[in-house]
Amino acid sequence: MATPIIDASHIVKDYGRVRALHGVSLEVGAGEFVALVGPSGCGKTTLLKILAGFEDITEGRLEIEGKDMRGVPAASRPTRMVFQKLALFPHKTVAQNIGFPLKLQKFDRAEIDRRVVAMLELMHLNPDYLDRFPAQLSGGEQQRVALARALVSHPGVLLLDEPMSALDAKLKKSLQAELKKLHRELGTSFVLVTHDLEEAMMLADKICVMRAGRMVQIGTPTDIYYRPANMFVAGFIGETNFLPVDVSGTLEGGLTVGSPLVAGQPVVMESGNVSEFLGEGNKALLIRPESIGFLAGEPGPGQWMLTGVVEEYFIKGSSTQYRVRVAGLDAPVVMDLPGSFELPAQVGEEVRIGFEPMRAFLLSE
Ligand code: ATP
Repeated sequence: MATPIIDASHIVKDYGRVRALHGVSLEVGAGEFVALVGPSGCGKTTLLKILAGFEDITEGRLEIEGKDMRGVPAASRPTRMVFQKLALFPHKTVAQNIGFPLKLQKFDRAEIDRRVVAMLELMHLNPDYLDRFPAQLSGGEQQRVALARALVSHPGVLLLDEPMSALDAKLKKSLQAELKKLHRELGTSFVLVTHDLEEAMMLADKICVMRAGRMVQIGTPTDIYYRPANMFVAGFIGETNFLPVDVSGTLEGGLTVGSPLVAGQPVVMESGNVSEFLGEGNKALLIRPESIGFLAGEPGPGQWMLTGVVEEYFIKGSSTQYRVRVAGLDAPVVMDLPGSFELPAQVGEEVRIGFEPMRAFLLSE
């Protein structure tokens, strides 16, 4: 990566006796869209506030645009933050809200007016809204005003703290699409905190998964989804099937992977870290719901088969989700099939399901 616009290294943050961040490092490239995800309380918002300058750092170093940010107040940083609770000024009009950061920076009136109108256009807000007050706008419109206010001073980095969590599903989808487009058009770096993993996968170039004040994995959405660092990440991102497996070493330094629960031959897998899989601890294959299907007959070459009973199905429109109870597995196997007019199996039916173990991902606990 070229010189990152944000370079946070080994950040520790204590709130009194509570350690919220245990040495977190993060790089954000110019124009990159980064999502911070993780369970409630893992430190996402704390990290975002540190980048914005609303919280100081207990230990570690933060550079933005190559400058040490120690002692640099929020307003003097090239970052702007959009909060979960919008923090629009209720007694200022839309125009005054959006123009406020420019007024603080003593821009002249004509330039403020010009930029406010340009932001309104960019955010697809009706020009008639300029004189309205926030309470006279819908939730989605208020969110756009908050975004416009954050972007009006052309920040190098936009920091977003769950900006869409209060919106209904449909509005959320349309704002997500707009946010992605906006990011592409502006070339500004975005750092988004979200609970919504689908949102992170949809929007971000890079996803940082946090747990209890630490970074667990940083990677592209496909990395995180198909090559998770461990079972925590795998289970956190999307629906997951874990099939317990037995692993032994081959003479050639690979791994033989098999399972007494399936019909099918053990397979030989390569791994960059063979010793990790030969030690103690449980091993499992991670199989995503879209990688499993019903089988009409015996498993083909390279396929593993499980038999079970359909517990439930959910028609989602473009796809149908099946849950199949398999003896020996704690949780039902989740399968996502392309939607079809006729259902392939009914509740209570005994079924054969299959997948290719070589296309699954081997994990150790
Ligand atoms: P959520 O998804 O629920 O918003 P989060 O991942 O953003 O959570 P943070 O808000 O960063 O988590 O909080 C991290 C930890 O620090 C939590 O244990 C929280 O209770 C604690 N914490 C956050 N702010 C403060 C504060 N001002 N004083 C004391 N502890 C705090």
